[in-house]
Amino acid sequence: MPSLSMDLPLTIPAILRRLRTHFGDKTVVSRRGEGALHQTTYRQMLERSAKLAGALRQLGIDAGDRVATLCWNHDRHLEAYYAVPAMGAVLHTLNLRLHADELAFIASDAGDRILIVDDDLLPLAQSFLARTPIETVIVVGTTDAPVPAGMRDYEGVLAAAAPMALETEVEETSAAAMCYTSGTTGRSKGVVYSHRAVALHSLTLGLADNFGLREADTVMPVVPMFHANAWGLPYGAAIVGANLVLPGRQLDARSLRELLGSQRVSFTAGVPTVWNSLLQLLDAEPGVVDLSSIRAMLVGGAAVPESLLRGFGERHAIEIIHAWGMTELAPLGTIARVPTRLANASLEARYRYRATQGTPAPFIEIRARSEAGLIPWDGEAMGELEVRGPWVAAGYHGAGIGAAAFTDDGWFRTGDIVAIDPFGGIEIRDRAKDLVKSGGEWISSVELEKRLMDHPDVLEAAVIAVPHPRWQERPFAAVVLKEARATAPEVLLAWVADGVPRWWVPDALVFIDAIPRTSTGKFLKSALRERYQGWYTSA
Ligand code: AMP
Repeated sequence: MPSLSMDLPLTIPAILRRLRTHFGDKTVVSRRGEGALHQTTYRQMLERSAKLAGALRQLGIDAGDRVATLCWNHDRHLEAYYAVPAMGAVLHTLNLRLHADELAFIASDAGDRILIVDDDLLPLAQSFLARTPIETVIVVGTTDAPVPAGMRDYEGVLAAAAPMALETEVEETSAAAMCYTSGTTGRSKGVVYSHRAVALHSLTLGLADNFGLREADTVMPVVPMFHANAWGLPYGAAIVGANLVLPGRQLDARSLRELLGSQRVSFTAGVPTVWNSLLQLLDAEPGVVDLSSIRAMLVGGAAVPESLLRGFGERHAIEIIHAWGMTELAPLGTIARVPTRLANASLEARYRYRATQGTPAPFIEIRARSEAGLIPWDGEAMGELEVRGPWVAAGYHGAGIGAAAFTDDGWFRTGDIVAIDPFGGIEIRDRAKDLVKSGGEWISSVELEKRLMDHPDVLEAAVIAVPHPRWQERPFAAVVLKEARATAPEVLLAWVADGVPRWWVPDALVFIDAIPRTSTGKFLKSALRERYQGWYTSA
């Protein structure tokens, strides 16, 4: 029997209709460039977004076309977050930490037609633009400097534009946004989010056992807006009508502390590295800024160290919420809220639970598989986590790309090795993917190995992730030199630095006689990880 419920599409335009109708006066505060804070309202922003949409249409952008951004977290980036999907086009947020070669590949693979770029990121943009299909560049200025010839000024574009209604209906299953994720072989893969995925994900963020976002919140995403839609917070804030604070490019602990305090932020989110440096500052200068407005600090992107949970909780009365997610999951997968069965457990037991990745968000289903098949949920057995759900990627952009990441029955293979407790709580124990996650951003071990092995003195090289007190992980290289060759680690590291972003360069490089191998001849990286795991922490 067919239902008689309305089939109103779950879309970003629907979120924006609600935002304008009910929360138009709520505020968005941004740091623009190095400058002062800029305050606006959702109503004003939506009017400007309508102009941006009109301008993009005039520039030839139609349904399904990709519009790229290369921007920090600020109001004009948010205007693109609204305008582009609401006009039926696809917002493609480029990661400003990537190498020009990678960005050239990504923008070409996505078929980006327009780029919206911050003025201070223009040198980066200019280093890859010519290798992409991008036709028009719109520069978001923070100074009076004129935009380069052939490019357009964001404010000029808006001033000249006729607004376009943002509330045109789009199909909920059509593409709203895309974001690339690092591949283990060095090739990034495009994840394409539907309107429905974004709408359901945003709604979930409001659940009390989830982020618990609500109208009374002032939300500050420190996580970049190019990283899985800033974990969904811009749309999550819009759906509940929370104020937003966008910190721009000043992400040092002192600037963040000042902004958290002055804007009375109640919910903030970022990777452990960011919060680690804030904790150090707060410990060194306790009580300088009143941070009592913060009700929750979300930490994700890498496992939260128990010391961070304790440090913020016990010394500064700030509660950390730990969550696990992935770009392929838009990104929220699981969240570690202490369940009632542990309400009377020891403090130690509760901290231990909060340092795990926790249980799935509604509609996210999990299982894990070892070579012997699906593992029992006994908290002991380990296997690769597989997930499915309405905001989980069903494939990557491009025919056949990354097909191995999906099982025959339609689950996504995460590459994270977990144990699952009898209540469905996961704990990440290892990683099947050959990558290093440093300060929340990926480094490809394979790319570093290729670069090292291109050196005439190197026979072979293995790069592993080694725990690091500041960056969670840093790359570490073990190198075997060719016979009768001699060189110094510094020489090889300088060689590496020539071909990859500076922050990818391993912090240490050792020479060894042979790289341990598996029976099938592959590098046995687990043996190297075991041997060198204390390298950066036991100094
Ligand atoms: P990304 O797609 O860049 O967001 O990276 C997702 C990956 O980061 C996951 O597959 C994990 O390997 C790692 N990750 C994310 N959140 C956590 C967490 N809370 N604990 C441990 N690893 C995490």
